[in-house]
Amino acid sequence: MYDFGYHQPSSLSEADAALNSASDPLLMAGGQTLIPTLKFRLARASDVVDLCGIDELKGIREEGNAVVIGAMTTHCEVAESDLVASRIPALASLARGIGDPQVRHRGTIGGSIANNDPAADYPAGCLGLGATIRTSKRQIAADDFFGDTFDTALEDGEIVTAISFPLPEKAAYAKFPNPASRYAIVGVMVAKTGAGVRVAVTGAGHGVFRDEAIELALNESFSVDAVDASGVDEEDLNSDIHASAEYRKHLIGVMAKRAVAKANS
Ligand SMILES: Cc1cc2nc3c(=O)[nH]c(=O)nc-3n(C[C@H](O)[C@H](O)[C@H](O)COP(=O)(O)OP(=O)(O)OC[C@H]3O[C@@H](n4cnc5c(N)ncnc54)[C@H](O)[C@@H]3O)c2cc1C
Repeated sequence: MYDFGYHQPSSLSEADAALNSASDPLLMAGGQTLIPTLKFRLARASDVVDLCGIDELKGIREEGNAVVIGAMTTHCEVAESDLVASRIPALASLARGIGDPQVRHRGTIGGSIANNDPAADYPAGCLGLGATIRTSKRQIAADDFFGDTFDTALEDGEIVTAISFPLPEKAAYAKFPNPASRYAIVGVMVAKTGAGVRVAVTGAGHGVFRDEAIELALNESFSVDAVDASGVDEEDLNSDIHASAEYRKHLIGVMAKRAVAKANS
């Protein structure tokens, strides 16, 4: 690890000031991905701005027809929240399935989506549920937030402050996990909303994406039998030691069926 300056601001404005005064800063949430990345010298920072002391980034609340989750809320807090369980049980179930207890106690929703690992669960949760990402500068629809592997719409020095999830009519998440890490080999969030069905897939491709063929079928009939094969081109899917592109494509259909069955139950 290279040397760096360390800052622990207690408000967003202090965090902004620390970011603006540093030449090459990085933000830190739980440090679960960031610290190993720095240790392996895959990243280098002049300064690390630790968000752990900023209370306004923590907590879960209801705002009108949405559940709003602060960026520094841990996976464990989402998994155990009565509010999330009663309003969007699919999200509580997604959080319960992340990693192991240590990972869920350390990892945060803001760190997860800012990192945008192509096998992470929350990107599918945000995209499938049609969430809005709130940052220190603006609000970004999930449809515009996630790019390819580890890429997002965030600009340098932009802090994710919260994620707003509109309440779906029905939703469920199904994941085929890697047996070691629990990251998704394929994970599918299916949500029936007032504006139609949304189907978001993680793990299968170079980043999270919506499966338009399955959305179309489920808009005709929101039933397990309506789900046919994914319309995604195999060439756009990952192929590695864990699963071939062909297998991943098959799993998208299977996970989508499981999610619809869960949502309808
Ligand atoms: C063994 C293991 C198993 C895991 N299994 C799963 C799994 O099954 N499913 C899953 O989805 N994830 C899994 N994860 C990932 C984990 O849950 C965390 O989401 C991830 O490591 C990010 O951690 P963090 O929140 O501590 O963020 P950090 O590591 O602190 O930060 C990650 C990145 O986000 C940036 N960042 C952090 N917060 C903000 C913010 N508020 N605004 C802007 N940028 C920000 C940082 O600069 C950094 O680039 C696993 C991790 C490990 C180590």
